[in-house]
Amino acid sequence: MRKGRLKGIIDAAINVSRETSRDYIGASQIGDACLRRIWYNYHGVSGAPFSTKQQRTFSIGKKLETIVIDSLHDAGVDLILPHVSNHYLEFFDEDIPYLRGHADAIIKDEDAILEIKTAKDSSFKIFVNKGLKVWNFQYYTQIQCYMGMSHKKKGYIVCINKDTSEVWDEEVQFSPEYYDGIKARALLVHSHDEPLPKVNDSPFYYACKTCQFKEICHD
Ligand code: SF4
Repeated sequence: MRKGRLKGIIDAAINVSRETSRDYIGASQIGDACLRRIWYNYHGVSGAPFSTKQQRTFSIGKKLETIVIDSLHDAGVDLILPHVSNHYLEFFDEDIPYLRGHADAIIKDEDAILEIKTAKDSSFKIFVNKGLKVWNFQYYTQIQCYMGMSHKKKGYIVCINKDTSEVWDEEVQFSPEYYDGIKARALLVHSHDEPLPKVNDSPFYYACKTCQFKEICHD
């Protein structure tokens, strides 16, 4: 009786999917309002590790995302999901390959990127009532990145309300002009040897209070 055959497959898949270090500018990151934080991440500066609570919140979010995937699948929507054979849906820009990221899924019939998020009720309501760009410009930038890198014209952001279990979504059309701006931003981060300007000079600024780099940034 063979033992450990599936273990080898599972271990190999985990090793492919996990990042050992962030040596690229992530699509999820490039829309960050703070250029310095993007610079720190890309240039290998070590910040404070994520807390257990933050990591658990991230894990819960990833688990909840599968509900959307499963529901769409049950409804007959044909999805391409991350898999070792498609490099876990990793895309990168052909001009600046250090700009890259992993999409959650592709809706096959529409050739559209699918990106899934979770939010607390107060945040979710902003998405519903005011739209993606007002709700979270970083998410808007992220899906523009995936579309630009994969040459797709359309994407969907789906969000699950963690408090009420409601779901909402918004379709996003690719903007070549906006994507050019993203690439210019990535080039700036890549080409500067020194940290880029801070988003704010006060360590009490809202974005800085929870930033993993605040100790070295505001020393
Ligand atoms: S502490 Fe503030 S200014 Fe410094 S990297 Fe973080 S968000 Fe940017």
